[in-house]
Amino acid sequence: MKINPCYENLGQNYLFAATAKKAADYAAAHPDKKIIRLGIGDVTKPLCPAVIGAMHKAVDDMSRPESFYGYGPYEGYEFLRESLSRYYALRGVSLGLDEIFVSDGAKSDLGNILDLFDRDNTALVPDPVYPVYVDTNIMAGRPVLFADAREDNGFLPMPDPSVKADLIYMCSPNNPTGAAYSAGQLKAWVDYANAQGAVILFDAAYEAFIRDESLPHSIFEVEGARTCAIEFCSLSKTAGFTGTRCGYTVIPKELVRGGVSLGGMWLRRQATKFNGTSYVVQRGAAAVFTPEGQAQVREAIDGYLQNARVITSALADMGIWYTGGQNSPYIWLKCPDRMDSWTFFDFLLGRAGVVGTPGEGFGKNGEGFFRLTAFGSPESTTEAMERIRRIF
Ligand code: PLP
Repeated sequence: MKINPCYENLGQNYLFAATAKKAADYAAAHPDKKIIRLGIGDVTKPLCPAVIGAMHKAVDDMSRPESFYGYGPYEGYEFLRESLSRYYALRGVSLGLDEIFVSDGAKSDLGNILDLFDRDNTALVPDPVYPVYVDTNIMAGRPVLFADAREDNGFLPMPDPSVKADLIYMCSPNNPTGAAYSAGQLKAWVDYANAQGAVILFDAAYEAFIRDESLPHSIFEVEGARTCAIEFCSLSKTAGFTGTRCGYTVIPKELVRGGVSLGGMWLRRQATKFNGTSYVVQRGAAAVFTPEGQAQVREAIDGYLQNARVITSALADMGIWYTGGQNSPYIWLKCPDRMDSWTFFDFLLGRAGVVGTPGEGFGKNGEGFFRLTAFGSPESTTEAMERIRRIF
């Protein structure tokens, strides 16, 4: 037998595994020093009371024969898809229940969606960005082109009509740069994708961090997106579900390629390879979209955004260039003294005991930049920034 040779083309180490190993080595060598982790994008606040209450009740449902649930629908329970449809309607986006597919998170769906597309398609991926888009395409042996996100375009690349791409990845608000597209910019991408017959894979995992009311939360707020876009979202960052696992993907009925409905293909794929997200988790997810749940998750995100302000105001005081942190939990800074991003990682860990993420791990344009996250506790975020102030 032959194994998939494409795995040999992957980078040697997954970014977070590499930073975690360096941090663990440092901790072993300096057992007396407390490390503060502002690196990996995991949440720290517990699930909100509305979610916990709904999940407790759902566990009780499972204890009684008359309210017990076995296998659920492949596309998710109707009660959750109805909540999601109402959530989109608040922004004027009308979605049919059969256009919403519940899953165990955005990462799985972003990888699994590639089952629908031929290997010969070309993927266009922003650089820098969440590494999963590139690696999942490399695993499938698909050619990848990059759209450069740099300081001079506000880390928001715009379409180049001379570039031909089939799958266009977008992440807004962006991980790692925190940059978020305006409606006008998204419209330019939608027009480009429709003109090329391409499909936009729009990752909205951080939409709940948007506080600037003029920015779209969903690509479907933009006219023309229904014929060219798939949207991925997740409750991981919206409601602290990183360990609980629930996400959703939206595929409009108008999205047809090669005469075939992509939503229909996706349902066929899910029915074959996925047996649904658990009933208890979907009940918890639906509670996020109740008025009580919305108020509670907003308060939690406001707390993270307050951490972001602690980070950005310290950087401003130190004269370190940064972007992000306003509609996003990520702060993207320029490594001081022209350090490269792994040198700055080692410097920050060695001198301040603070772990961040080297920008280079998100793509070549990330070299010289560094990502800090606002997902720590207020205390550890404040302490981390005090330690950094001391070394500058
Ligand atoms: N998309 C982006 C841009 C992310 O940063 C992450 C997680 O960090 C994910 C998707 C994965 O989300 P999930 O936990 O739903 O798999």
